[in-house]
Amino acid sequence: MNIEVYNDFNAKNLTTFKISGIIKRAYFPKNKDELVHLLKILDNPLVLGNCSNVLISSYGVNRDVIFTKKCNNIDVLDDILSVECGANGIMASKVASENGLGGLEFMIGFPGSIGGEIYMNASAQNQCISDYLVCADIFDKSTKMVKTLSKEDLNFSYRHSICQDKEYVVLSGTFMLPLTDKKIIKEKMDMNLKFRHEHQPSLKYPNCGSVFKNPENTSAGKLLDEIGAKTLTYGGAKVWEHHANFIINQNNASSSDILNLMLLMYNKVNKEKHITLKPEVIYIGSNSKEEENIWKILNTK
Ligand SMILES: Cc1cc2nc3c(=O)[nH]c(=O)nc-3n(C[C@H](O)[C@H](O)[C@H](O)COP(=O)(O)OP(=O)(O)OC[C@H]3O[C@@H](n4cnc5c(N)ncnc54)[C@H](O)[C@@H]3O)c2cc1C
Repeated sequence: MNIEVYNDFNAKNLTTFKISGIIKRAYFPKNKDELVHLLKILDNPLVLGNCSNVLISSYGVNRDVIFTKKCNNIDVLDDILSVECGANGIMASKVASENGLGGLEFMIGFPGSIGGEIYMNASAQNQCISDYLVCADIFDKSTKMVKTLSKEDLNFSYRHSICQDKEYVVLSGTFMLPLTDKKIIKEKMDMNLKFRHEHQPSLKYPNCGSVFKNPENTSAGKLLDEIGAKTLTYGGAKVWEHHANFIINQNNASSSDILNLMLLMYNKVNKEKHITLKPEVIYIGSNSKEEENIWKILNTK
């Protein structure tokens, strides 16, 4: 196998936050076989999709990282859509739509990969990745074996799947989608895009989507708005002035700027609302004690 690999790879342009971070060794498998081969031979590699929900440390990452972007085949057979993990959700929803298949309209609006979306149980506008998922092929890092898990086995809940608890890498997902009038699919997609346009920053302002998860029975954005977060800044990072649960990389922010700003937001909500926010974005790095300490505080139970 001739698998693409780079030493000291700067991940900046692969991430939606556009923050520099040097990866010790970066692999780009172009199909499922290459991905499984790497998972078998490497020592506990980290697997990333479209890097739209991660903050990679500016101090670099001393690990092998597999980027799944090129492992992106999509097959359609009747109402069944089979998607490799690195396929972009936007592309998957377009392919479904071209074939008159509904259920994935929500994916049109944000840049995750199918693997990342299954891992995170991504959702928007009352639809979620688990709605029409039948099963997923996963690689179990602890046994180094491939297995197929049903939707029930994947144990989905809000922004959670079993892949986060076990050492599971998503290789592909299979969806059974409802036959739907293409006009209705288009209307739903247009509505999703309009909502995004009106309520969320475009990627012109580098960001990673919602920074904190919604606590039970309320929204993180509402709480953050009430404590005045929209005016908060730290270094090159800034809370977006139109929605308080988004941080944008305004001026060459570092990962420490983002984490320090998250800490300000977290502490203010804790103090003024007595609610502990939980990060939705995932920090990746281990070369800075300061960053690790902040990340530990942000993940206090
Ligand atoms: C502008 C914007 C809007 C967004 N809006 C939404 C929204 O409405 N709803 C929503 O749910 N999310 C939203 N997001 C967040 C993000 O797109 C989702 O969390 C998405 O599921 C992440 O997918 P990814 O491929 O980018 O994952 P990455 O950021 O690459 O990784 C996220 C996590 O998933 C793991 N992972 C990635 N691929 C795999 C794999 N194949 N197997 C196992 N683990 C894997 C990584 O290790 C990491 O822990 C938004 C982001 C942006 C930038």
